[in-house]
Amino acid sequence: MRYISTRGQAPSVGFVDAVLAGLAPDGGLYVPETWPSFTDAEIAAFAGRPYAEVAAAVIGAFAGDEIPKDELLEMCREAYATFNHPAVVPLVQLSPGAFLAELFHGPSLAFKDVAMQILARLYDHVLGKQSRTQTILCATSGDTGGAAVEAFRGRRNVKVVALFPEGRISEVQRRFMTAATEPNVACVAVAGTFDDCQAIVKQAFQDQVLRQAVDLSGVNSINFARIAAQAVYYFTSAVALGAPHRPVSFCVPSGNFGDAFAGYVASRMGLPIGRIVVATNSNDILAHAFEDGRYVRGQVTPTISPAMDIQSASNFERLYFESVEREPVETARAFGAFATAGAIDIPPKAFQAMRAMFRGVAVGEDETRRIIVATLNETGELIDPHTAVAVAALKRVADLPGPVVVLSTAHAAKFPEDVAEASGVTPALPRGALDLADRPERFDRLPAEPETIKEYVRAFANA
Ligand SMILES: *Cc1c(COP(=O)(O)O)cnc(C)c1O
Repeated sequence: MRYISTRGQAPSVGFVDAVLAGLAPDGGLYVPETWPSFTDAEIAAFAGRPYAEVAAAVIGAFAGDEIPKDELLEMCREAYATFNHPAVVPLVQLSPGAFLAELFHGPSLAFKDVAMQILARLYDHVLGKQSRTQTILCATSGDTGGAAVEAFRGRRNVKVVALFPEGRISEVQRRFMTAATEPNVACVAVAGTFDDCQAIVKQAFQDQVLRQAVDLSGVNSINFARIAAQAVYYFTSAVALGAPHRPVSFCVPSGNFGDAFAGYVASRMGLPIGRIVVATNSNDILAHAFEDGRYVRGQVTPTISPAMDIQSASNFERLYFESVEREPVETARAFGAFATAGAIDIPPKAFQAMRAMFRGVAVGEDETRRIIVATLNETGELIDPHTAVAVAALKRVADLPGPVVVLSTAHAAKFPEDVAEASGVTPALPRGALDLADRPERFDRLPAEPETIKEYVRAFANA
């Protein structure tokens, strides 16, 4: 399987190179040259299989022959053994026809663990074989950093620098990063927003000198292996609810559009997905894109669902590329213009293609709080603010085909203050994380200046 850039100016690469590179050298995102697919019989056979086996089948379809099948299965088994639920991603029923897929049973209590645990093992496997050390630079809106630190800490062939926007993530989110004591991990509080952090990471990747000097790699949701790993729970959830014999719809709390795009990928692979509702908080760039056909960056507003405080959704470029029938020149033009002018008018045909699958809904803070209380009262489930945004969005759209799965992306205990304020109930941390607040923290503070941060990365990588 070869991977091509959405901007068409980078040579095609294999799965391993696409994964290790993260962003393509022309600034585009890697996508598979063609979409692998499963037959209905193959999808039906996923029913009742252990999660790790379905993961190995789905990720294996993208890895092709670059990772031996038995080794990939072993990596998936190890990755998902770190989850504290035997189903890995269990379904919980909310109401007739509506379910939560709980993606938060991993070590850092957010859905990012699902992809990061397997990604870390893929890196170890590949870099070990190449006797190579890489530096992973990631920007986090809260949960990616914790998941990356949990997955990569102590690994021999990888160093990790996690940038987070100071004061804009929850204490529990921060502590999952900053409590790591392993010397291969550095955490940096950046005086800026998540979009600033993300822009700095992009710039670092475009700096060829730095890129080579520290063998830079990215594990943000632009990394295609993460998308592949996230497609897995669309399969397990949909099959549990009757796919491929009937369609299943999904409602996804969205920021960088990686999670929702993984649903699109699952559908391209043959899974009958009815609709995907893209739920945002008041940072509603995606909701507007799918409702009005204009993708326009606004100011980032801090909310109680901080992992979605994003006004520039990296993975949207992948969907755009597909929706303009894989026209790299048009994709490069649109996202070049977005970088400078902050707006894309989606061509009518492409918009129509997007609407065949996607709907967008933006949910305000009061409504999010009300839904936390209402869900607790009606079902006994204490949901986190990100999940609440999606549950609220679901109530606003009618006529979704089939049962609907809301992706529950974080454990409520990751946002204890906001959940307690909304519901009057303080969510308890699961056993494994009970001592989190007592662990000492270790991190540095830097201004949102690309040069300063690049210098820091260089020094850490060479230390
Ligand atoms: C990252 C994250 C999201 C958004 O996912 P994207 O793939 O960026 O759209 C939603 N909820 C939580 C809890 C997250 O950590």
